[in-house]
Amino acid sequence: MSKTKLPEYDHDTIIIGGGPAGYTAGIYAARSGLKTLLVEGAATVSQITITDLIENYPGIPDGIDGFELMQLFKKQALKFGLEIITKDVLAIKNNAAAPVIWDVTLEDDSFRTLSIIAATGARWRNLEVPGEQEFAGRGISYCATCDGPFYRNKDVVVVGGGDTAIQEALFLTKFANKIIVIHRRNRLRAAQILQKRAFAEKKIEFVWNATLTEVIGRDFVTGVKVADVQSGGIKEIDAEGVFIFVGRLPHTGIFRDILRLDAGGYIITDDNMRTSAAGIFAAGDCRAKQFRQVVTAAGDGANAIYSAELYVEELKGETY
Ligand code: NAP
Repeated sequence: MSKTKLPEYDHDTIIIGGGPAGYTAGIYAARSGLKTLLVEGAATVSQITITDLIENYPGIPDGIDGFELMQLFKKQALKFGLEIITKDVLAIKNNAAAPVIWDVTLEDDSFRTLSIIAATGARWRNLEVPGEQEFAGRGISYCATCDGPFYRNKDVVVVGGGDTAIQEALFLTKFANKIIVIHRRNRLRAAQILQKRAFAEKKIEFVWNATLTEVIGRDFVTGVKVADVQSGGIKEIDAEGVFIFVGRLPHTGIFRDILRLDAGGYIITDDNMRTSAAGIFAAGDCRAKQFRQVVTAAGDGANAIYSAELYVEELKGETY
């Protein structure tokens, strides 16, 4: 079979996302000499940068601040010469004239790449109750690390029962007078070690089998209304801060029309991070998977770039 000429392109791979998955892919790509660009979002920051303490990332026995860990990832990537820009990707399209090329459009730039690593992560989910939007930034928060110090000696509520809610509730004990965790079931989803710490912490109280139905206040939050899921009875809890940690939503809007997503909007991949589109690989929190951690994101990133490299090599081998 005769070889065809590979159409013009500017990058072997473009990594979209500046979190642990994206940067790990970037470190591997730059080190192995792939012509790579990492685009980190201008409008969004990686969730890790607002995590105060990561104590389960191997090799760092004393734990590390999320922002600091991300700076180290970046330093390592730059050491290998990774090209990085901070802009939002507006669109990704398969090039009509040359389907082997993916066109990546930014606000004031566009690129032609042979492969893409989707490492766009996820963002906090809203509770969508009355008062949530109204009091955003005036008593409602989605980040204890950012806003915890504003609540010194005050009472706050935390909504959710997962790792994030409990870890953030524990962090808030440094500042708040009392932390009331409102959870819709009578069991936490959080890891046992976090549960144990929270149950031992005098400042943390729990309201079980309850959902927050409204945030109330005047200029600032003064409390919340909570419904008992069994009786339906409503009670009010006084609090000056409401921290909402009820899971995440993936940043996958730009892939909606080109990749297979699951019901929650996460990108479906095989074990080697290949998505439903040839040349696009996914890694980290935006991918459909069981366990979302820094270490699993980094693992995904390494796997994704390896698959991308094989794919690109194969393309180049079939062409001249
Ligand atoms: P998550 O595990 O999905 O937990 C979300 C929590 O919010 C659950 O307790 C859920 O209740 C509750 N919830 C969801 N929707 C709700 C609603 N509409 N009203 C009231 N409650 C609602 O999310 P996450 O805690 O953000 O964790 C996400 C991922 O990051 C997980 O894989 C987690 O392991 C990881 N993570 C790990 C660490 C760590 O290792 N230290 C720290 C942070 C996050 P149910 O329990 O009833 O479903």
